[in-house]
Amino acid sequence: RDASWGFIGLGRMGYPMAKNLRLKVPKEDTLLVFDVNAASSEALVKELGADRVKVAKDVREVAEESDTIITMLPEPHHVKGVFGELFAMPIMPSPGAPQKLFIDCSTIDPTTSTQVGEMVRNSYMKAEFVDAPVSGGVVGAEAGTLTFMLGAPDSIVPRVESVLQHMGKRTLHCGKPGTGIVGKLANNYILAMENIAVAEAFNFGTKMGLDAQVLKDLVGCSTGKCWSNDINNPVDNAKKDFVGGFGISLMRKDLGLAVAAAEKAKAKLLIGRPALEAYEAVEKVEECKGRDFSVVYRYLGGEEKK
Ligand code: NAD
Repeated sequence: RDASWGFIGLGRMGYPMAKNLRLKVPKEDTLLVFDVNAASSEALVKELGADRVKVAKDVREVAEESDTIITMLPEPHHVKGVFGELFAMPIMPSPGAPQKLFIDCSTIDPTTSTQVGEMVRNSYMKAEFVDAPVSGGVVGAEAGTLTFMLGAPDSIVPRVESVLQHMGKRTLHCGKPGTGIVGKLANNYILAMENIAVAEAFNFGTKMGLDAQVLKDLVGCSTGKCWSNDINNPVDNAKKDFVGGFGISLMRKDLGLAVAAAEKAKAKLLIGRPALEAYEAVEKVEECKGRDFSVVYRYLGGEEKK
């Protein structure tokens, strides 16, 4: 029996992921896709051929016809909406088919993810649901080099890893369902903070007469070393008008999810809320909107003449 794959959500991340999956699995397998924006599905069919990709009429058809279904949706309410639609009527498992596996790669909140997971596991389908958010951005999705943070029962990890290797180079099993999301939010929390700290330090450092390149080299070999200095430096990004990269609205979203999850878990945060308010304020400024999240540096006035 050839494997049947389903993919829901063909956006900036989902499209290249679905494409890599299709190109890596055997030709005889089937891939059924669905996106509310029909143009994305049609573009994939056009790119890979109608013999390799089929477009489903809705998400139920994807779930009914596929053994493994990957979702890559923007926010918690989209994931809730898709799975709500799936469970509006029972989906019976086909005789002889393997247990259905849902892999949600969206960055959402742990509560929604665990609730949806329980709904799937307790359904007629007797399916499995795991959370596998990603790190690596659009560049990693296109190159097939994503890192997945997986929350899944031990027994299913080998099967999930064998799927994810078609779209990424690393899968970190974080623990039980829900822990992949927690790991992703914890990582992006750190990233949100270091990005602000680097922007502030470069702003006051250069205003006090220190050359930006000297500061970057110094931090790069000192205890402040971090991705926001070495790889995504705001002074370098300013030269490109902060175009591309990780959008400020995505960082605001991820930090909002992390802060809400931490508050729900009664974990004390010192700088989470003020940082979230800072990103909200930056995003409202016309010159910062839609740009890489290191644009915080521009908001601080870092580009102004010294
Ligand atoms: P996107 O907005 O580009 O794509 C989302 C896609 O989902 C769109 O094509 C949209 O039409 C589709 N969609 C929405 N509702 C749907 C529904 N009910 N049924 C079917 N399709 C539906 O978003 P993206 O950049 O691909 O991000 C997806 C997820 O990945 C987000 O949770 C994001 O936080 C996370 N992520 C993004 C990046 C990045 O750099 N873009 C990096 C890591 C993680």
